Amino acid sequence: RHCIDTLPFENSFASLPPAFYTRLMPTPVPSPYLVCASKSAAALINLDTEQFSTDNFVQTLAGNRTPAGSDPLAAVYSGHQFGVWAGQLGDGRAILLGDVPAPGTSSPGTMELQLKGSGLTPYSRMGDGRAVLRSSIREFLCSEAMAALGIPTSRALCVTGSDMRVMRETPETSAIATRMAPTFVRFGSFEHWFYNGRKEELKILADYVIDRFYPELCDAANPYHALLSEVTRRTAHLIAQWQAVGFMHGVMNTDNMSILGQTIDYGPFGFMEAFDIRHICNHSDPQGRYSYQMQPRIGEWNCYALGQALLPLVGDVETTKDALQVYQPEYERTLSQLLHAKLGLQSVDVDDDGLIDAMFILMQNNHVDFTLFFRRLGDLRIDDPSQDEALRDLFLDRPAFDAWAVQYRTRLRQENRRDAERKAAMHAVNPKYVLRNYLAQVAIEKAQNKDFSEIARLLDVLEKPFDEQPENEKYANLPPDWASQLEVSCSS
Ligand code: AMP
Ligand code: MG
Ligand code: MG
Repeated sequence: RHCIDTLPFENSFASLPPAFYTRLMPTPVPSPYLVCASKSAAALINLDTEQFSTDNFVQTLAGNRTPAGSDPLAAVYSGHQFGVWAGQLGDGRAILLGDVPAPGTSSPGTMELQLKGSGLTPYSRMGDGRAVLRSSIREFLCSEAMAALGIPTSRALCVTGSDMRVMRETPETSAIATRMAPTFVRFGSFEHWFYNGRKEELKILADYVIDRFYPELCDAANPYHALLSEVTRRTAHLIAQWQAVGFMHGVMNTDNMSILGQTIDYGPFGFMEAFDIRHICNHSDPQGRYSYQMQPRIGEWNCYALGQALLPLVGDVETTKDALQVYQPEYERTLSQLLHAKLGLQSVDVDDDGLIDAMFILMQNNHVDFTLFFRRLGDLRIDDPSQDEALRDLFLDRPAFDAWAVQYRTRLRQENRRDAERKAAMHAVNPKYVLRNYLAQVAIEKAQNKDFSEIARLLDVLEKPFDEQPENEKYANLPPDWASQLEVSCSS
Protein backbone atom coordinates (compact mmCIF):
# COMPACT_ATOMS: atom_id res chain seq x y z
CA ARG A 1 0.00 0.00 0.00
CA HIS A 2 1.12 3.50 -0.84
CA CYS A 3 1.44 6.60 1.20
CA ILE A 4 0.73 9.89 -0.50
CA ASP A 5 4.38 10.41 -1.47
CA THR A 6 4.94 6.96 -2.90
CA LEU A 7 1.93 7.07 -5.26
CA PRO A 8 3.48 6.22 -8.63
CA PHE A 9 2.26 9.20 -10.65
CA GLU A 10 2.31 8.72 -14.41
CA ASN A 11 1.12 12.17 -15.55
CA SER A 12 -0.34 10.79 -18.78
CA PHE A 13 -2.41 13.87 -19.62
CA ALA A 14 0.73 16.01 -19.29
CA SER A 15 2.23 14.00 -22.15
CA LEU A 16 -0.24 15.70 -24.53
CA PRO A 17 1.00 18.87 -26.27
CA PRO A 18 1.09 22.02 -24.10
CA ALA A 19 -1.95 23.51 -25.88
CA PHE A 20 -4.15 21.09 -23.90
CA TYR A 21 -3.37 22.53 -20.45
CA THR A 22 -1.43 24.95 -18.32
CA ARG A 23 1.06 23.59 -15.83
CA LEU A 24 0.61 25.21 -12.43
CA MET A 25 0.60 24.55 -8.71
CA PRO A 26 -2.41 24.61 -6.41
CA THR A 27 -2.66 27.77 -4.29
CA PRO A 28 -2.03 27.02 -0.58
CA VAL A 29 -4.72 27.54 2.07
CA PRO A 30 -4.25 28.42 5.75
CA SER A 31 -4.37 25.60 8.35
CA PRO A 32 -6.19 22.89 6.41
CA TYR A 33 -7.95 20.00 8.13
CA LEU A 34 -9.52 16.75 7.01
CA VAL A 35 -13.30 16.87 6.64
CA CYS A 36 -13.95 13.38 5.33
CA ALA A 37 -12.29 10.59 3.37
CA SER A 38 -13.42 7.43 1.63
CA LYS A 39 -11.67 4.14 2.34
CA SER A 40 -13.18 2.44 -0.67
CA ALA A 41 -11.93 5.25 -2.93
CA ALA A 42 -8.46 4.97 -1.38
CA ALA A 43 -8.46 1.25 -2.12
CA LEU A 44 -8.81 2.02 -5.83
CA ILE A 45 -5.33 3.51 -5.87
CA ASN A 46 -3.88 1.22 -3.23
CA LEU A 47 -3.53 4.10 -0.83
CA ASP A 48 -3.04 3.18 2.81
CA THR A 49 -6.01 4.56 4.77
CA GLU A 50 -3.72 5.12 7.77
CA GLN A 51 -2.62 8.07 5.65
CA PHE A 52 -5.89 9.90 6.30
CA SER A 53 -4.79 10.97 9.77
CA THR A 54 -1.39 12.26 8.70
CA ASP A 55 -0.52 15.90 8.29
CA ASN A 56 1.20 15.11 5.01
CA PHE A 57 -2.03 13.73 3.54
CA VAL A 58 -4.05 16.77 4.55
CA GLN A 59 -1.42 19.29 3.41
CA THR A 60 -1.07 17.53 0.08
CA LEU A 61 -4.76 17.21 -0.71
CA ALA A 62 -5.40 20.77 0.42
CA GLY A 63 -2.85 21.82 -2.22
CA ASN A 64 -0.25 23.12 0.21
CA ARG A 65 2.40 20.78 -1.10
CA THR A 66 2.78 18.70 -4.21
CA PRO A 67 3.12 14.94 -3.92
CA ALA A 68 6.39 13.51 -5.20
CA GLY A 69 6.25 12.68 -8.88
CA SER A 70 3.16 14.68 -9.75
CA ASP A 71 3.13 17.24 -12.56
CA PRO A 72 0.08 19.42 -11.77
CA LEU A 73 -1.94 21.12 -14.49
CA ALA A 74 -5.30 22.67 -15.37
CA ALA A 75 -6.91 21.45 -18.61
CA VAL A 76 -8.67 23.54 -21.21
CA TYR A 77 -12.12 22.75 -22.59
CA SER A 78 -15.19 24.55 -23.90
CA GLY A 79 -18.87 23.71 -23.90
CA HIS A 80 -22.53 24.37 -24.41
CA GLN A 81 -24.13 25.71 -21.25
CA PHE A 82 -27.93 25.50 -21.07
CA GLY A 83 -28.01 24.89 -24.80
CA VAL A 84 -25.91 27.92 -25.70
CA TRP A 85 -22.33 27.85 -26.98
CA ALA A 86 -20.26 29.27 -24.12
CA GLY A 87 -16.79 29.22 -25.68
CA GLN A 88 -13.74 28.49 -23.57
CA LEU A 89 -14.27 27.23 -20.03
CA GLY A 90 -11.63 24.84 -18.70
CA ASP A 91 -10.55 23.76 -15.23
CA GLY A 92 -11.36 27.04 -13.53
CA ARG A 93 -10.85 25.65 -10.06
CA ALA A 94 -9.57 22.13 -10.56
CA ILE A 95 -5.98 21.00 -10.69
CA LEU A 96 -4.98 17.61 -11.96
CA LEU A 97 -2.18 16.07 -9.91
CA GLY A 98 -1.68 13.19 -12.34
CA ASP A 99 -2.79 9.61 -12.75
CA VAL A 100 -1.79 6.59 -10.72
CA PRO A 101 -2.28 2.86 -11.40
CA ALA A 102 -5.61 1.52 -10.22
CA PRO A 103 -5.37 -2.23 -9.83
CA GLY A 104 -8.48 -4.08 -10.88
CA THR A 105 -10.13 -1.35 -12.93
CA SER A 106 -10.72 -1.39 -16.65
CA SER A 107 -8.19 -0.22 -19.22
CA PRO A 108 -5.80 1.48 -18.82
CA GLY A 109 -6.21 0.92 -15.12
CA THR A 110 -5.20 4.33 -13.89
CA MET A 111 -7.00 6.94 -11.85
CA GLU A 112 -6.47 10.65 -12.18
CA LEU A 113 -6.39 12.63 -8.95
CA GLN A 114 -7.85 16.08 -9.19
CA LEU A 115 -8.11 18.81 -6.56
CA LYS A 116 -11.33 20.80 -6.98
CA GLY A 117 -11.32 24.23 -5.38
CA SER A 118 -7.55 24.57 -5.26
CA GLY A 119 -7.15 28.13 -6.52
CA LEU A 120 -7.10 30.30 -9.60
CA THR A 121 -6.11 28.95 -12.99
CA PRO A 122 -5.89 30.64 -16.40
CA TYR A 123 -9.43 29.30 -16.98
CA SER A 124 -11.05 30.75 -13.86
CA ARG A 125 -12.77 33.55 -15.81
CA MET A 126 -14.82 35.51 -13.22
CA GLY A 127 -14.53 32.83 -10.53
CA ASP A 128 -12.22 32.72 -7.52
CA GLY A 129 -10.88 29.22 -8.12
CA ARG A 130 -12.40 28.02 -4.88
CA ALA A 131 -15.21 25.71 -3.79
CA VAL A 132 -17.35 25.93 -0.67
CA LEU A 133 -17.59 23.29 2.05
CA ARG A 134 -21.29 22.73 1.36
CA SER A 135 -20.91 21.71 -2.27
CA SER A 136 -17.68 19.79 -1.63
CA ILE A 137 -19.44 17.60 0.94
CA ARG A 138 -22.34 17.07 -1.46
CA GLU A 139 -19.97 16.01 -4.24
CA PHE A 140 -18.07 13.72 -1.89
CA LEU A 141 -21.15 11.95 -0.55
CA CYS A 142 -22.91 11.66 -3.88
CA SER A 143 -19.88 10.32 -5.77
CA GLU A 144 -19.47 7.55 -3.23
CA ALA A 145 -23.22 6.92 -3.01
CA MET A 146 -23.54 6.58 -6.79
CA ALA A 147 -20.62 4.17 -6.89
CA ALA A 148 -22.33 2.04 -4.24
CA LEU A 149 -25.53 2.10 -6.31
CA GLY A 150 -23.52 0.65 -9.18
CA ILE A 151 -23.84 3.76 -11.35
CA PRO A 152 -20.74 4.85 -13.32
CA THR A 153 -19.24 7.87 -11.59
CA SER A 154 -16.10 9.73 -10.70
CA ARG A 155 -15.03 8.97 -7.14
CA ALA A 156 -14.18 11.17 -4.19
CA LEU A 157 -11.13 10.41 -2.10
CA CYS A 158 -11.56 13.14 0.48
CA VAL A 159 -12.52 16.69 1.33
CA THR A 160 -10.16 19.02 3.14
CA GLY A 161 -11.30 22.32 4.61
CA SER A 162 -9.82 25.63 5.62
CA ASP A 163 -11.27 28.43 7.68
CA MET A 164 -10.44 30.75 4.82
CA ARG A 165 -13.70 32.33 3.72
CA VAL A 166 -14.93 32.65 0.18
CA MET A 167 -17.72 34.90 -1.00
CA ARG A 168 -20.88 33.44 -2.46
CA GLU A 169 -24.36 34.83 -1.64
CA THR A 170 -22.81 35.12 1.83
CA PRO A 171 -19.28 34.39 3.08
CA GLU A 172 -18.75 30.62 3.31
CA THR A 173 -16.11 28.15 4.47
CA SER A 174 -13.90 26.95 1.62
CA ALA A 175 -12.95 23.36 0.95
CA ILE A 176 -11.14 21.21 -1.57
CA ALA A 177 -12.50 17.93 -2.87
CA THR A 178 -10.15 15.29 -4.25
CA ARG A 179 -11.85 13.56 -7.14
CA MET A 180 -10.77 10.49 -9.06
CA ALA A 181 -11.66 9.17 -12.50
CA PRO A 182 -9.67 7.42 -15.23
CA THR A 183 -9.97 10.71 -17.10
CA PHE A 184 -11.84 13.99 -16.78
CA VAL A 185 -11.92 14.54 -20.55
CA ARG A 186 -15.40 15.81 -21.43
CA PHE A 187 -17.52 16.29 -24.52
CA GLY A 188 -16.48 19.93 -24.23
CA SER A 189 -12.81 18.97 -24.52
CA PHE A 190 -13.55 17.92 -28.12
CA GLU A 191 -15.85 20.85 -28.84
CA HIS A 192 -13.00 23.13 -27.82
CA TRP A 193 -10.79 22.04 -30.71
CA PHE A 194 -13.65 21.75 -33.20
CA TYR A 195 -14.92 25.30 -32.64
CA ASN A 196 -11.37 26.64 -32.76
CA GLY A 197 -10.83 24.93 -36.12
CA ARG A 198 -7.92 22.92 -34.75
CA LYS A 199 -8.33 19.55 -36.42
CA GLU A 200 -4.85 18.39 -35.49
CA GLU A 201 -5.48 18.76 -31.75
CA LEU A 202 -8.92 17.24 -32.20
CA LYS A 203 -7.30 14.14 -33.64
CA ILE A 204 -4.59 14.02 -30.96
CA LEU A 205 -7.26 14.09 -28.26
CA ALA A 206 -9.44 11.46 -29.93
CA ASP A 207 -6.43 9.20 -30.43
CA TYR A 208 -5.40 9.71 -26.81
CA VAL A 209 -8.88 8.75 -25.58
CA ILE A 210 -9.17 5.73 -27.86
CA ASP A 211 -5.69 4.53 -27.11
CA ARG A 212 -6.04 4.78 -23.33
CA PHE A 213 -9.71 4.18 -22.65
CA TYR A 214 -11.18 2.45 -25.69
CA PRO A 215 -8.26 0.31 -26.98
CA GLU A 216 -10.73 -2.25 -28.34
CA LEU A 217 -11.86 0.36 -30.90
CA CYS A 218 -8.39 0.87 -32.38
CA ASP A 219 -8.94 -1.77 -35.03
CA ALA A 220 -12.42 -0.65 -36.08
CA ALA A 221 -12.83 0.31 -39.75
CA ASN A 222 -13.48 3.89 -38.61
CA PRO A 223 -12.24 4.27 -35.00
CA TYR A 224 -13.79 7.75 -34.64
CA HIS A 225 -17.18 6.46 -35.68
CA ALA A 226 -16.69 3.62 -33.21
CA LEU A 227 -15.69 6.08 -30.47
CA LEU A 228 -18.73 8.30 -31.02
CA SER A 229 -20.99 5.29 -31.13
CA GLU A 230 -19.59 3.79 -27.93
CA VAL A 231 -19.64 7.07 -26.00
CA THR A 232 -23.22 7.61 -27.17
CA ARG A 233 -24.17 4.11 -26.06
CA ARG A 234 -22.56 4.57 -22.65
CA THR A 235 -24.24 7.94 -22.19
CA ALA A 236 -27.67 6.48 -22.99
CA HIS A 237 -26.96 3.63 -20.60
CA LEU A 238 -25.90 6.03 -17.85
CA ILE A 239 -28.96 8.22 -18.18
CA ALA A 240 -31.27 5.22 -18.05
CA GLN A 241 -29.56 4.33 -14.77
CA TRP A 242 -30.14 7.86 -13.49
CA GLN A 243 -33.83 7.70 -14.40
CA ALA A 244 -34.25 4.33 -12.73
CA VAL A 245 -32.88 5.56 -9.41
CA GLY A 246 -34.46 9.02 -9.61
CA PHE A 247 -31.13 10.85 -9.87
CA MET A 248 -31.11 14.31 -11.42
CA HIS A 249 -27.76 15.82 -12.35
CA GLY A 250 -28.96 19.40 -12.55
CA VAL A 251 -26.35 20.82 -14.95
CA MET A 252 -26.01 18.56 -17.98
CA ASN A 253 -23.94 21.05 -19.94
CA THR A 254 -21.61 19.47 -22.50
CA ASP A 255 -18.62 20.42 -20.34
CA ASN A 256 -20.08 18.22 -17.59
CA MET A 257 -20.43 15.10 -19.75
CA SER A 258 -17.66 12.53 -19.32
CA ILE A 259 -16.16 10.92 -22.41
CA LEU A 260 -16.27 7.68 -20.40
CA GLY A 261 -20.02 7.84 -19.79
CA GLN A 262 -19.56 8.39 -16.07
CA THR A 263 -21.44 10.81 -13.84
CA ILE A 264 -19.11 13.78 -13.25
CA ASP A 265 -19.25 17.33 -11.90
CA TYR A 266 -21.72 17.04 -9.07
CA GLY A 267 -23.36 20.37 -8.41
CA PRO A 268 -27.05 21.04 -7.75
CA PHE A 269 -28.00 17.37 -8.20
CA GLY A 270 -30.93 15.74 -6.43
CA PHE A 271 -32.67 12.44 -5.87
CA MET A 272 -36.37 12.35 -6.64
CA GLU A 273 -38.51 12.32 -3.53
CA ALA A 274 -42.22 13.15 -4.11
CA PHE A 275 -42.49 11.96 -7.69
CA ASP A 276 -42.94 14.70 -10.28
CA ILE A 277 -41.71 13.98 -13.76
CA ARG A 278 -41.16 17.72 -14.29
CA HIS A 279 -39.08 18.10 -11.14
CA ILE A 280 -36.17 20.58 -11.43
CA CYS A 281 -33.44 20.02 -8.86
CA ASN A 282 -31.35 23.07 -9.85
CA HIS A 283 -32.75 26.37 -8.62
CA SER A 284 -30.71 28.13 -11.35
CA ASP A 285 -32.69 26.31 -14.08
CA PRO A 286 -36.15 27.91 -14.08
CA GLN A 287 -36.92 26.63 -17.58
CA GLY A 288 -36.34 23.05 -16.48
CA ARG A 289 -33.93 22.23 -19.28
CA TYR A 290 -32.39 19.66 -16.94
CA SER A 291 -35.57 18.45 -15.24
CA TYR A 292 -36.08 14.74 -14.62
CA GLN A 293 -38.19 14.21 -17.72
CA MET A 294 -35.74 16.13 -19.92
CA GLN A 295 -32.57 14.23 -18.96
CA PRO A 296 -32.90 11.47 -21.59
CA ARG A 297 -33.43 13.98 -24.40
CA ILE A 298 -30.64 16.24 -23.18
CA GLY A 299 -28.31 13.28 -23.01
CA GLU A 300 -28.97 12.71 -26.68
CA TRP A 301 -28.65 16.41 -27.49
CA ASN A 302 -25.23 16.34 -25.83
CA CYS A 303 -24.19 13.34 -27.90
CA TYR A 304 -25.16 15.30 -31.01
CA ALA A 305 -22.93 18.14 -29.79
CA LEU A 306 -20.11 15.63 -29.45
CA GLY A 307 -20.94 14.26 -32.89
CA GLN A 308 -20.69 17.75 -34.36
CA ALA A 309 -17.26 18.15 -32.78
CA LEU A 310 -16.04 14.77 -34.02
CA LEU A 311 -17.47 15.24 -37.52
CA PRO A 312 -14.12 16.22 -39.10
CA LEU A 313 -12.65 12.93 -37.87
CA VAL A 314 -15.66 10.69 -38.45
CA GLY A 315 -15.79 11.92 -42.04
CA ASP A 316 -19.31 12.94 -43.04
CA VAL A 317 -22.73 13.74 -41.66
CA GLU A 318 -24.30 10.40 -42.56
CA THR A 319 -21.61 8.38 -40.80
CA THR A 320 -21.86 10.66 -37.76
CA LYS A 321 -25.64 10.29 -37.61
CA ASP A 322 -25.22 6.56 -37.89
CA ALA A 323 -23.04 6.49 -34.78
CA LEU A 324 -25.58 8.59 -32.87
CA GLN A 325 -28.43 6.24 -33.73
CA VAL A 326 -27.52 3.88 -30.92
CA TYR A 327 -28.79 6.36 -28.34
CA GLN A 328 -32.53 5.73 -28.41
CA PRO A 329 -32.49 1.93 -28.58
CA GLU A 330 -29.80 1.69 -25.90
CA TYR A 331 -31.70 4.07 -23.62
CA GLU A 332 -35.01 2.27 -24.08
CA ARG A 333 -33.53 -1.19 -23.74
CA THR A 334 -31.64 -0.30 -20.56
CA LEU A 335 -34.54 1.55 -18.96
CA SER A 336 -36.96 -1.25 -19.72
CA GLN A 337 -34.56 -3.79 -18.27
CA LEU A 338 -34.01 -1.70 -15.13
CA LEU A 339 -37.73 -1.07 -14.63
CA HIS A 340 -38.55 -4.72 -15.05
CA ALA A 341 -36.00 -5.51 -12.37
CA LYS A 342 -37.40 -2.77 -10.15
CA LEU A 343 -40.84 -4.33 -10.46
CA GLY A 344 -39.51 -7.80 -9.86
CA LEU A 345 -40.43 -9.01 -13.33
CA GLN A 346 -38.24 -11.61 -15.00
CA SER A 347 -40.01 -11.79 -18.32
CA VAL A 348 -41.27 -9.16 -20.74
CA ASP A 349 -44.94 -8.96 -21.63
CA VAL A 350 -46.58 -6.80 -24.30
CA ASP A 351 -48.75 -5.15 -21.65
CA ASP A 352 -45.83 -4.16 -19.39
CA ASP A 353 -45.54 -0.68 -20.84
CA GLY A 354 -49.14 -0.04 -19.86
CA LEU A 355 -48.55 -1.32 -16.34
CA ILE A 356 -45.45 0.83 -15.95
CA ASP A 357 -47.04 3.95 -17.44
CA ALA A 358 -50.01 3.56 -15.10
CA MET A 359 -47.58 3.21 -12.18
CA PHE A 360 -45.79 6.47 -12.99
CA ILE A 361 -49.08 8.33 -13.48
CA LEU A 362 -50.22 7.04 -10.11
CA MET A 363 -46.92 8.08 -8.50
CA GLN A 364 -47.21 11.52 -10.12
CA ASN A 365 -50.82 12.07 -9.03
CA ASN A 366 -50.05 11.01 -5.49
CA HIS A 367 -46.63 12.67 -5.10
CA VAL A 368 -45.28 9.32 -3.99
CA ASP A 369 -41.76 9.15 -2.63
CA PHE A 370 -39.71 7.50 -5.39
CA THR A 371 -37.31 5.52 -3.22
CA LEU A 372 -39.81 4.36 -0.61
CA PHE A 373 -42.28 3.28 -3.30
CA PHE A 374 -39.95 0.88 -5.04
CA ARG A 375 -38.50 -0.40 -1.79
CA ARG A 376 -41.92 -1.15 -0.30
CA LEU A 377 -43.14 -2.65 -3.56
CA GLY A 378 -40.63 -5.41 -2.94
CA ASP A 379 -42.43 -6.31 0.29
CA LEU A 380 -45.72 -6.92 -1.50
CA ARG A 381 -47.17 -10.38 -0.96
CA ILE A 382 -48.78 -11.74 -4.02
CA ASP A 383 -51.76 -13.38 -2.30
CA ASP A 384 -52.25 -11.05 0.64
CA PRO A 385 -53.32 -7.47 -0.14
CA SER A 386 -54.11 -6.97 3.57
CA GLN A 387 -50.32 -6.67 4.04
CA ASP A 388 -50.05 -3.72 1.62
CA GLU A 389 -50.50 -1.12 4.36
CA ALA A 390 -47.03 0.50 4.35
CA LEU A 391 -47.00 0.72 0.57
CA ARG A 392 -50.61 1.85 0.34
CA ASP A 393 -49.96 4.57 2.92
CA LEU A 394 -47.75 6.37 0.39
CA PHE A 395 -50.87 7.15 -1.68
CA LEU A 396 -53.54 9.75 -1.08
CA ASP A 397 -55.87 8.02 -3.51
CA ARG A 398 -55.98 4.52 -2.01
CA PRO A 399 -58.60 3.08 -4.40
CA ALA A 400 -56.42 4.14 -7.35
CA PHE A 401 -53.49 2.31 -5.79
CA ASP A 402 -55.64 -0.77 -5.12
CA ALA A 403 -56.74 -0.85 -8.75
CA TRP A 404 -53.14 -0.72 -9.96
CA ALA A 405 -52.10 -3.35 -7.41
CA VAL A 406 -54.71 -5.73 -8.87
CA GLN A 407 -53.10 -5.27 -12.31
CA TYR A 408 -49.63 -5.74 -10.84
CA ARG A 409 -50.58 -8.92 -8.98
CA THR A 410 -52.13 -10.34 -12.11
CA ARG A 411 -48.88 -9.69 -13.91
CA LEU A 412 -46.80 -11.20 -11.11
CA ARG A 413 -48.88 -14.38 -11.26
CA GLN A 414 -47.67 -14.94 -14.83
CA GLU A 415 -44.28 -15.66 -13.27
CA ASN A 416 -43.88 -18.50 -10.86
CA ARG A 417 -41.70 -16.72 -8.39
CA ARG A 418 -42.12 -16.98 -4.65
CA ASP A 419 -42.58 -13.79 -2.61
CA ALA A 420 -39.32 -14.21 -0.74
CA GLU A 421 -37.30 -14.69 -3.89
CA ARG A 422 -38.88 -11.74 -5.65
CA LYS A 423 -38.39 -9.57 -2.60
CA ALA A 424 -34.69 -10.39 -2.39
CA ALA A 425 -34.25 -9.60 -6.09
CA MET A 426 -36.18 -6.33 -5.83
CA HIS A 427 -34.37 -5.17 -2.71
CA ALA A 428 -31.08 -5.81 -4.50
CA VAL A 429 -31.99 -3.20 -7.15
CA ASN A 430 -34.27 -0.78 -5.27
CA PRO A 431 -32.12 1.09 -2.76
CA LYS A 432 -33.40 1.78 0.70
CA TYR A 433 -30.95 4.64 1.23
CA VAL A 434 -30.22 7.50 -1.17
CA LEU A 435 -28.62 10.90 -0.58
CA ARG A 436 -31.72 12.92 0.13
CA ASN A 437 -31.07 16.65 0.21
CA TYR A 438 -32.03 16.96 3.84
CA LEU A 439 -29.60 14.23 4.88
CA ALA A 440 -26.76 16.07 3.16
CA GLN A 441 -27.96 19.32 4.70
CA VAL A 442 -27.83 17.95 8.26
CA ALA A 443 -24.28 16.70 7.68
CA ILE A 444 -23.28 20.03 6.11
CA GLU A 445 -24.63 22.14 8.97
CA LYS A 446 -22.78 20.04 11.53
CA ALA A 447 -19.61 20.26 9.43
CA GLN A 448 -19.93 24.03 9.31
CA ASN A 449 -19.64 23.82 13.10
CA LYS A 450 -16.59 21.55 12.81
CA ASP A 451 -18.45 18.37 13.62
CA PHE A 452 -17.66 16.00 10.74
CA SER A 453 -19.12 12.88 12.34
CA GLU A 454 -22.39 13.00 10.44
CA ILE A 455 -20.61 12.91 7.07
CA ALA A 456 -18.81 9.73 8.09
CA ARG A 457 -22.02 8.22 9.41
CA LEU A 458 -23.93 9.08 6.23
CA LEU A 459 -21.13 7.73 4.05
CA ASP A 460 -21.32 4.49 5.97
CA VAL A 461 -25.08 4.24 5.36
CA LEU A 462 -24.84 5.16 1.67
CA GLU A 463 -22.11 2.62 1.01
CA LYS A 464 -24.69 -0.15 1.62
CA PRO A 465 -27.77 1.37 -0.05
CA PHE A 466 -29.52 -1.95 -0.67
CA ASP A 467 -29.02 -3.42 2.81
CA GLU A 468 -31.50 -3.34 5.62
CA GLN A 469 -29.72 -1.34 8.31
CA PRO A 470 -32.02 -1.48 11.35
CA GLU A 471 -29.78 0.88 13.33
CA ASN A 472 -30.00 3.43 10.51
CA GLU A 473 -33.73 3.20 9.81
CA LYS A 474 -34.17 6.96 10.17
CA TYR A 475 -31.94 7.61 7.13
CA ALA A 476 -34.61 6.01 4.96
CA ASN A 477 -37.34 8.32 6.20
CA LEU A 478 -39.33 10.85 4.22
CA PRO A 479 -37.87 14.36 4.32
CA PRO A 480 -39.00 16.50 7.26
CA ASP A 481 -41.16 19.57 6.61
CA TRP A 482 -38.24 22.00 6.75
CA ALA A 483 -36.61 20.21 3.82
CA SER A 484 -39.17 21.63 1.40
CA GLN A 485 -37.43 25.00 1.84
CA LEU A 486 -34.08 23.63 0.64
CA GLU A 487 -32.80 25.03 -2.61
CA VAL A 488 -29.65 24.07 -4.43
CA SER A 489 -28.30 26.23 -7.21
CA CYS A 490 -25.25 26.54 -9.44
CA SER A 491 -23.56 28.58 -6.69
CA SER A 492 -20.84 26.35 -5.32
P1 AMP B 1 -19.82 24.10 -13.68
O1 AMP B 1 -21.12 24.66 -14.12
O2 AMP B 1 -19.69 23.94 -12.20
O3 AMP B 1 -19.48 22.84 -14.41
O4 AMP B 1 -18.70 25.17 -14.05
C1 AMP B 1 -18.59 25.71 -15.33
C2 AMP B 1 -17.24 26.34 -15.49
O5 AMP B 1 -17.05 27.36 -14.50
C3 AMP B 1 -16.07 25.40 -15.37
O6 AMP B 1 -15.11 25.80 -16.29
C4 AMP B 1 -15.61 25.63 -13.95
O7 AMP B 1 -14.25 25.32 -13.78
C5 AMP B 1 -15.85 27.11 -13.78
N1 AMP B 1 -16.05 27.51 -12.39
C6 AMP B 1 -17.10 27.23 -11.59
N2 AMP B 1 -16.94 27.77 -10.37
C7 AMP B 1 -15.75 28.41 -10.38
C8 AMP B 1 -15.00 29.17 -9.42
N3 AMP B 1 -15.45 29.39 -8.18
N4 AMP B 1 -13.81 29.67 -9.82
C9 AMP B 1 -13.34 29.47 -11.06
N5 AMP B 1 -13.98 28.78 -12.00
C10 AMP B 1 -15.17 28.25 -11.67
MG1 MG C 1 -18.16 21.49 -14.71
MG1 MG D 1 -19.38 22.35 -11.08
